[in-house]
Amino acid sequence: MSAARRIAAMFAVTLAAALDLYEYQGKQLFKRYGIPVSDGRPATTPEEARAAAEEIGGQVVVKAQVLTGGRGKAGGIKLADDPADAEAKAREILGLDIRGHVVRTLWIETASEIAKEYYLSITFDRGVKKPLFMFTTHGGMDIEEVAEKTPDALVRLHVDALEGFQPYQARRLIYAAGVEDPGEQKQIAVIVEKLYDAFVGTDAMLCEINPLIVTPEGEVKALDSKFTVDDNALDKHPDIAEMRDTAAADPLEALAREKGVTYVKLDGEVGILGNGAGLVMSTLDVIGLSGGEPANFCDLGGGGDAEGVVDALEVITKDPQVKSIFFNIFGGITRCDEVARGILAALERMTIEQPIVVRLDGTNAEEGRKVLADAAPAGLYVEATMLDGARKAVELAHD
Ligand code: GDP
Ligand code: MN
Repeated sequence: MSAARRIAAMFAVTLAAALDLYEYQGKQLFKRYGIPVSDGRPATTPEEARAAAEEIGGQVVVKAQVLTGGRGKAGGIKLADDPADAEAKAREILGLDIRGHVVRTLWIETASEIAKEYYLSITFDRGVKKPLFMFTTHGGMDIEEVAEKTPDALVRLHVDALEGFQPYQARRLIYAAGVEDPGEQKQIAVIVEKLYDAFVGTDAMLCEINPLIVTPEGEVKALDSKFTVDDNALDKHPDIAEMRDTAAADPLEALAREKGVTYVKLDGEVGILGNGAGLVMSTLDVIGLSGGEPANFCDLGGGGDAEGVVDALEVITKDPQVKSIFFNIFGGITRCDEVARGILAALERMTIEQPIVVRLDGTNAEEGRKVLADAAPAGLYVEATMLDGARKAVELAHD
């Protein structure tokens, strides 16, 4: 397995703890916090797009709602002069595949005239442990590109979470970026403050406006939205939790989330179950070293009770690509004998066709191995080391 693939898996684990919102949902939240956006409507069919354009009136923009950027370049954003044109443009965009994301929803909004494109975002700077504002008058393109090509144009400013946002901070961002028009300065200062309110108020991890436009009349507003909310805070925000598009996600990943199992789908044939992200990552490597490919990445975390094992096995075995399952457990707080009993209880409650290899090490490992050896269920193999376990799992997968 390539390093990139592993890192992607790692990111997916990180991302599994976040809810990404569609542009129109983020704009809904912007509006709630008083950040100016254009009037718009969602649509899922060309007919709905036409009706939306009729209600809105005038020229509209038809925008693909997918959880990936660069929609403009991919043909996912089109201007329409009238309702019939909106219907035609909707027909072109619906069903489009934008980097693996199929367009099922559109956002139709009043078309804006654009004089300038700025960029404004707030996110967490994990290194400094503070929220970080980024602002530049070089908007419309990827911020990574701005940071690389014109780093001086990108203004960065941390906010002390305890002190909270201070109005002088907005002024500092605006002056440092070189916004000279007093009307723009005033509007942007308000938007910066409201974006901070939105970020804190929704427990967001990222609020990005790219582009933040200035119209020829000098009006500043958010033309796009990228909004990511912390999964762990969704209990506090049931309305935002409901925005999750479960249909767009991998059905197994959705099932895993429902059951509270960390699960990431990969391409291979060996299903992997471990406790702790670090151990699971090295298990991916060892499977690779043994000539196999992981089918997924499943982390039991601290739990190893029957319930957790059943949940994880249920998710893993639903993946038709899985030919064998490798349980790699290092007992710390989790006791190996408990995991062993969990595995046996799981096997009593469900039929598993794939062979299972178990490696137990750490706290109560010997006891755990004995529990399994005594019960000796068919199709279950116990190995003492991670490498032996991985080899056995790969061998069984290729049988
Ligand atoms: P992204 O490509 O996924 O980031 O989508 P954006 O919403 O940022 O739109 C991309 C680009 O499409 C913008 O930078 C604009 O140049 C253009 N665009 C989007 N909406 C409008 C609009 O209402 N009017 C005009 N003239 N251009 C628009
Ligand atoms: Mn954008």
